[in-house]
Amino acid sequence: MRTLLIKINAARPEKRKMRAVARILRRGGIVVFPTETVYGIGANALNGAACRKIFRVKRRAADNPLIVHVSSLEMARRVCDIPSKYQKVISDIWPAPLTIITKSKSILPKVVTAGLETAAVRMPANRIALELINECGFPIAAPSANISTKPSATSALHALGYFKGKVAAIIDGGNASYGIESTVLDLRTFSILRPGAFTAEEIKKSFGKSPRIASAYKLKANSAPISPGTKYKHYAPSTPLFLYVGRRGKIGSILSNIDDKFAFIGSSASSEKMGKNVIRIDIGSSKKEIARNLFDSLIKLDYTGANFAVVEQQSSEGLGLAIRNRLLKASSNRAFKTAKELKKLILLYSIKD
Ligand code: AMP
Ligand code: MG
Repeated sequence: MRTLLIKINAARPEKRKMRAVARILRRGGIVVFPTETVYGIGANALNGAACRKIFRVKRRAADNPLIVHVSSLEMARRVCDIPSKYQKVISDIWPAPLTIITKSKSILPKVVTAGLETAAVRMPANRIALELINECGFPIAAPSANISTKPSATSALHALGYFKGKVAAIIDGGNASYGIESTVLDLRTFSILRPGAFTAEEIKKSFGKSPRIASAYKLKANSAPISPGTKYKHYAPSTPLFLYVGRRGKIGSILSNIDDKFAFIGSSASSEKMGKNVIRIDIGSSKKEIARNLFDSLIKLDYTGANFAVVEQQSSEGLGLAIRNRLLKASSNRAFKTAKELKKLILLYSIKD
């Protein structure tokens, strides 16, 4: 299949181009498009056969349901029941990187909800995404635009690397502004199933109550996953990644004893202290920058030739909760505090996929 790369103006999407992409979706094709969180790989959410293609192309497990993207509250009501007590607050929050889990309606094909009684629905805060859904007139089911287990795409170039020849079109609308997926909030239990770009603090402020944070950091062995996607290996580069969870400021001296070819992914301040032999991937300083650069750093890592990489854990306030969650998964929970623990990890795991 020939993949069209279509550059679209993010501030003023060209009508003619949007119509062309909508036509592909109307005919049951799949396309990659930008959202404010990460890039999505989308199909008509009401067309089961089209949505099945997403699972094939992404190599996504069939029991991992898709988020349905809408451009209005009315469209959301066509696919799910929004409890009346939450209608106002959700209409105030949306468009935003907040996905709600609520009772689904039978109009949604089973493939989208993975046969669950609930659906995941959100309105993205991105003009290209919103105008595309509007132009189609139907909701778009779209998971993140990455091959399953790999880091999510935050630019058209990342998506091209994953899906060239496999999708009809990729829209280039610039870099994703958050760089991290939406927060998944279960309205029935008022718990965060996946921390994301809409912070727990923001949820508390807008809903007037604190969300429960379920399995945000770790999934205990053998426990049933609450959100199907949380049980899979995720966001992982091919290069083994180890997570530093020790005291700030000590990482430089721990790494100075390692004479292997490795990369360090960290804040500008920490990167500066690394020796010349270390491959440095600067992830930025503020939480906002780190979120935005996170997946790009993990994708770049695989091109550095490093035998393994070390990344610093972040504190859990604000966007930090989502960043921590992605880092734990990307490193398959391989964390260390001391030089001795790091050496053990290197011995055990420094073999690429
Ligand atoms: P992605 O689209 O790749 O960002 O992943 C969507 C996330 O939402 C995955 O973790 C899914 O398991 C989760 N999700 C989608 N639908 C539901 C649902 N009905 N109940 C719980 N989690 C869901
Ligand atoms: Mg994903």
